[in-house]
Amino acid sequence: MSSNMTQPIDLRELDLFAFCRKGSSATGQVAVRDLPRILAETAAQAPASAPDEVFTYTAAGSAHEEATEPGAPMAQRLFLELAVNGQVWLDCQRCLAAYAEPVATSMRFEVFSSEEAADAAPMDDDALDAIAGSKRFSLLELIEDEVLLALPTAPKHAVCPTVHESLVTGADGEVEPEAAPEEEEKRPSPFAALAGLKTRH
Ligand SMILES: [Zn+2]
Repeated sequence: MSSNMTQPIDLRELDLFAFCRKGSSATGQVAVRDLPRILAETAAQAPASAPDEVFTYTAAGSAHEEATEPGAPMAQRLFLELAVNGQVWLDCQRCLAAYAEPVATSMRFEVFSSEEAADAAPMDDDALDAIAGSKRFSLLELIEDEVLLALPTAPKHAVCPTVHESLVTGADGEVEPEAAPEEEEKRPSPFAALAGLKTRH
């Protein structure tokens, strides 16, 4: 499932603490078929090869010694950087055809010793997210999380391909009413704003 040049890691059971402490890094690929929540989002009319498509990931761990306050003993903070690139087949909400939405996401995480510690962390930095580490951490699930967060709430072609009129009016002869493009651009959707927050770019 994964192939990488740096070092082999178990994507489903990674000792994330050791990975960060050693400053390890790994790069490889995961297939869409190994990401059930992405499969669930995949357009029904996606090409049959869609589950075989892959995401490329790069993960890099690091550890920093820091005094939490002047004079306090040094504490070790662990960090994980994760970048994921690939594409997901989605249904265009404008023309209803399946299209490949490119995904290019990267995020930096601070790795805490427990869920409680991660929840309690004062995360006021949008560029840093708190996660609970584990000796059997699923990097696969984190990759899947990041891809899902990167997906648009209202998926659409940048420019829809020209659709033959017979296809649009085909089955029941009805055409979905649609807002004029200019009008649509004037009103930013609240969901788009939310997606912007969630993707943290
Ligand atoms: Zn479209």
